[in-house]
Parts: sequence; C-alpha cells; structure tokens
Amino acid sequence: MLIGFLDVKSDLMIIDAHLHLPVLPEPRSYEQAMAKLLEDLRADQVNYAILIPDNLPNSEIGDVPVCLRLVRDTPELFLMGTIDIQTQGQEWIKELERLITQRLIVGMKIFPGHDPIYPTDPRLDPVYALCQANDLPMVIHTGWNSGHPEATQYNDPKTIVQVAERYPRLRIVIAHFFWPEVDYCYAVTHNYPNIYFDTSGLADGEVIQATGFEKIQAVLLKTLSENPKKVIFGTDYGMCSRPDHIQMIQRLPISAEVREGIFWRNAVELFHLPVTLLPTTQIYPASIR
Ligand SMILES: [Zn+2]
Repeated sequence: MLIGFLDVKSDLMIIDAHLHLPVLPEPRSYEQAMAKLLEDLRADQVNYAILIPDNLPNSEIGDVPVCLRLVRDTPELFLMGTIDIQTQGQEWIKELERLITQRLIVGMKIFPGHDPIYPTDPRLDPVYALCQANDLPMVIHTGWNSGHPEATQYNDPKTIVQVAERYPRLRIVIAHFFWPEVDYCYAVTHNYPNIYFDTSGLADGEVIQATGFEKIQAVLLKTLSENPKKVIFGTDYGMCSRPDHIQMIQRLPISAEVREGIFWRNAVELFHLPVTLLPTTQIYPASIR
C-alpha cells in the first residue's frame, strides 16, 4: 500500500515540480480545481509544488494571471511563468520580468510541439536572456503529444542543445524526456551541464507503453549516475497519476540520498525555492492526512 509506505517515511519531503490545475467536470470553477489540487497534495503527502499555467487565455488549466491569483495565499504552491511567443511579445516579457523581480514566479516554461515553434526561434531570445540573467530555469515541453507523434519535430533535443550552447548559464529542464525516444534524448543532451530533466509523465500508462518501463528506468539511472542533481521530481498531475510517479521513484535502485535529491533537494536548489524543511506531519495536521 503506497499510502501506508509513505506514512512510515513521513519525514520524507516531496516537491512536485511539474503539475497543473486538474480539469473537473462541468460546471466547474478555478477555485474548485484549486481545492481539489490541495486536497490531492495532502492525500499524496506532497509538501510543495510548482503550478504550471497554460500559455493560452481562457484555458481549462488557467493562464498565468488566473494561477497567480490562485496561489497568492498558498505558501506550499509556487508558480511558473509561461509564454506563447507567437502571440505574446515584448509587453508580456516585461510582465514576466516584473513577476521574476517580485519573486512571484520560480521558473519559465515554453511548449514547443503544443505550439508550432522551435526552441531556437529567435523570438525566444529575450526570454532566454531574461531567464539566464535571473538564474530562472527554463522548462521545455518535449515528446509525443497524445495521438500526435509529429509534434516532436518542434521539440527535438538537438534543437534544445543549441539553446544550451548559446546560453551556457541558462538552466534548462527537459520535461517528459522526449518520450518515447528517451535513449536518443539522453545521448544528445547528457554532456550538457546546464540541461536537467523532470520526471513528469514518465509513469503514465501511455508513455510506458510507447517507451518501455525498463528503458525509462535505465535512462534515469544513467543520468543519475553521471550527475544525481539532474533529475527533478514532477508528475504532470492534473493529467497523470501522482502515486504512480512516486512509486516509480521509490522503486529505483538508488541510495536514500539520491532519492531525496530527486524528491525535493534538487528542485529547491534549481528553482531556489524558499521551503521550510518540515516533515509532512507538521505541515498537514493528522486529521487531514
Ligand atoms: Zn505538464
């Protein structure tokens, strides 16, 4: 039993560095989605999380202004900035800069593949420069979109390494490991000290079926053996099962120290998260655990 197992390890901190608002059945409100998100964080004994808004207005998962409002009074939730460079230009980049300066966002995300843009699109240069100047990690969506393998032309790791070379102090987080081609992703990116990986989506049934569980596990272990700071725990909660992702990391044959790095320490260092190191029992009263 996963919950029972986590109860025993209640001193283990978990940060989910990649999640979204859940999409509830109609009629729904953002506030209801937020309440569900917090309820599930507590059920899964996750201490902190980074909420990633959509880069489209009126999205079911909320855009940056909506999510900014939702996380305002929730110290266990941090926020990521997002941008659609096709429609949002200089004015939005100025707003993102304000959010960075006021420490209202801890990272940035772009969605090549969801958007028909390449990471090397010159319109993204001011965003990369802004992130690099502020040591704000840039998360890049990669891999198949459900039912749309052709989306990978836009987020191929070979274009991401070009960005890593042009911005050597920009810390890049590859989301979803370019599934199902995780071996290829590892081969192209592993020599870049400024490229990191989050685990979001990797325990999803569709991803495992297309990629192979052994392959995913092997690529995570290879990455960790070279640099244990390079893997960040994320789940794509809202679309994917968080308990499955927790279990995937629990089952990796790694030391307690490396596991602790994946579950929270690496995210704290990478995103500069101002977290309090409390066991979950102290953050959430026993009555709601
Ligand atoms: Zn996601």
